[in-house]
Amino acid sequence: MRTYTNENNKITIFFAEDLLSEVKELCKEKGNLETGGILVGMYNLDLQSAIITKVLGPPSDSKYGRTTFVRGTKGVKKTLDSFWKEGQYYLGEWHFHPNALPIASSQDISQMNKIAKNVVYKCPEPLMLIIGQDYNDFLETFYISVYGNDLIEFIRS
Ligand SMILES: [Zn+2]
Repeated sequence: MRTYTNENNKITIFFAEDLLSEVKELCKEKGNLETGGILVGMYNLDLQSAIITKVLGPPSDSKYGRTTFVRGTKGVKKTLDSFWKEGQYYLGEWHFHPNALPIASSQDISQMNKIAKNVVYKCPEPLMLIIGQDYNDFLETFYISVYGNDLIEFIRS
């Protein structure tokens, strides 16, 4: 289990190694193209711990580019509704930066601000996981978007 924290709002993210491996496989499949998807999970009662329980791959209407990725929406609401009934919720987004570091771009920031305000996701403080590459190594960074402000980065703890 990997954990990540940030000093600003004291949230800890719990992310299992096998889920990280799943994400890396989805990235490898796309090679030099960006890809992404959705993070599903839950917060504990004090809202200080976010546990990621599922990583969803790209919906079929997603668009992949070398430096862009537009996550599709086909089937997403239905899938999230069925997880909701099981007590698992939309927590945020993940995407891949091929041959680049996992640092949020200005596009990433504006995308997260839009999601924070989108009632479909019922998630005013969405997480964002970026998988980057440093030669053959995959690197991951988590961010949180808080009330449409700048993203806050997590540090692996
Ligand atoms: Zn990005």
